[in-house]
Amino acid sequence: MNVLVVEDEPLMGKSLSRGLSEAGHQCVWVKDGQRGLEEALGQCFDAIILDLLLPGMPGLSVLKKLRARGVRTPVIVLTALGAVEDRVTGLRAGGDDYLVKPFEFPELLARLEAVCRRALDRPAAKISVSDLHLDLSTRRVERHGHELDLTPTEFSILEILMRHSGQVVTRKMLCEHLWEVDWEGATNVIEVHMTRLRKKLDRHGAGAWIQTVRGRGYALRPT
Ligand code: CA
Repeated sequence: MNVLVVEDEPLMGKSLSRGLSEAGHQCVWVKDGQRGLEEALGQCFDAIILDLLLPGMPGLSVLKKLRARGVRTPVIVLTALGAVEDRVTGLRAGGDDYLVKPFEFPELLARLEAVCRRALDRPAAKISVSDLHLDLSTRRVERHGHELDLTPTEFSILEILMRHSGQVVTRKMLCEHLWEVDWEGATNVIEVHMTRLRKKLDRHGAGAWIQTVRGRGYALRPT
């Protein structure tokens, strides 16, 4: 797993990153809320461990902003506050699980694995980002109530962009999603599909949603 840890306390942060690495996971550790939000929007993580009391931006605001941008990465909320209201607020804001400090690392790891498994077990049959709706069972895409006529490749590209809405989807990810291999020379092919997809999307709504992130890939960012 690739895990983002947003935690300002050095001891806690250090022990989390060490524990995760020892368990064979990759870990990015940032110490304030603003950086946490930027990291979570900037790349794809399998899970986020988010402290509530943070400098820069409170954990709850980070969580709300992520969910508002359509980022569905599982989030485990950490806090020293054990009050029931905090737990409810955290879960309502879009947290998947909640852990009160102090806790044992194996418990965190077990919960982390559980939220990731749940996220994988329940692939959404329908994905919505703002007024754009994609239905995986009927293969229909609607924007603003208008059905979009997409090719299978365009549909697949839009699916992965919507799954990672707000985040950067790299060309390598697109390539592996579309052809199950990282194919050298795919860049131009992807660009052609992307141009057509952008035109179809923008026909029924204002603003360019699919942004090119120079040197990295693409991101679906509702304007
Ligand atoms: Ca803290």
